[in-house]
Amino acid sequence: MSLEWDTPLFQQAQTQLERALVTAGVSDFVAERLRNPERAVMFTLPVRMDDGTIRSFPAYRVQHSSVLGPTKGGIRYDLGVSLGECAALAMWMTWKCALLRLPYGGAKGGVRCDARAHSQAELSRITRRFASDLAPFIGPKQDIPAPDMATNEQTMAWIMDTYSMGKGYAVPEIVTGKPVSIGGSVFRHEATGAGVVMVIERACGRLGWELATQRCVVQGFGNVGGIAATELYDKRATVVGVSDISGGLHDPNGLDIPALHAHVAANGSLEGYDRARRISNEELLALECDILVLAAREDQVTGENAGSLRCKLVVEGANGPTSPAADAILAERGIPILPDVLTNAGGVTVSYFEWVQDLSRFFWDRDEIRNRLAEKLGDAFDRVWELAEERSTTLRDAALIAGIREVAAALEARGIYP
Ligand code: GLU
Repeated sequence: MSLEWDTPLFQQAQTQLERALVTAGVSDFVAERLRNPERAVMFTLPVRMDDGTIRSFPAYRVQHSSVLGPTKGGIRYDLGVSLGECAALAMWMTWKCALLRLPYGGAKGGVRCDARAHSQAELSRITRRFASDLAPFIGPKQDIPAPDMATNEQTMAWIMDTYSMGKGYAVPEIVTGKPVSIGGSVFRHEATGAGVVMVIERACGRLGWELATQRCVVQGFGNVGGIAATELYDKRATVVGVSDISGGLHDPNGLDIPALHAHVAANGSLEGYDRARRISNEELLALECDILVLAAREDQVTGENAGSLRCKLVVEGANGPTSPAADAILAERGIPILPDVLTNAGGVTVSYFEWVQDLSRFFWDRDEIRNRLAEKLGDAFDRVWELAEERSTTLRDAALIAGIREVAAALEARGIYP
């Protein structure tokens, strides 16, 4: 049955699900329930621009599964935001939360807009109108948004404030990834990028590699890629290539990551940095290296370019960067992929810690959060690695099977209502 969210990205998520279902051993009713999201809402947000005109922005929130608890997932601002994209990303969030054994299902939402083209005042009005229209569908026990592409702590603060104004009291637990001053968690900002490197370290341990001798390429220099690059640099790995929307940079002797961050802070992007060779995105993906971290966006490695990758390990910091056709080519070439639902789960895991801290009004310190995160990611990594060995599957199939089984067990126990 083809539904409204049936787009190429949603088909990618469904294809992955069908592959995993073959070995997951779940009953037909469970499989049928998990193939589509439980709920999807669409909005058009009327927003006053700084010049006084009113523009309409399409916006969405998709909740894939509430079997294990409230739904959880980011809100992105991007011109590619659509119902199908949110549905695919919401399904991935379900597997991610379940794999990490967080008491959540998956959700995702967003506004179709170009965040860079708007002033802070316009972004504030877009966000507040979205939060207000979303209010009946979200809640600390129902659905808890977080940052995603082009949204950040400030965006979450606006949502928290708008929701709290409606209630008449502060509700910090309505969103995660908010500023520490209003109940955010220390280490949430770094959690996704730092988590990516924790998973890489764990994989290096299994592969018998020394992280400090690895040559790495990082696609994307935002909250995930930028922080992962810093963590790799701090751990003495050599980062030979990075990129952002302005293009890529290459230095076979290793890039000066702190200098790149200083350049981005001063200029807004990597554009104009002249202490490395400028390359295109396609050249970046084809650089010879040990570890390629995909931390930009979905659909980057496809059937067309998977054959030209020259790395030994692919690491998914973004959601959905590798298509099923690319998965098959890389498997054939013997290049393992550390899959998104495991590798970038550091963000939602510390979001969970943030929500727990907000609900208990009791806050933990940075070391405690870092240690608990390393423990959770390490445990999930070991389960995925061992299942992949036991079943001779890819790491992606193993991660999805492990996640799906957690949700399936809950759905079996609860049954279908009524
Ligand atoms: N947007 C992030 C993700 O895709 C974080 C979600 C969250 O913290 O709820 O995993």
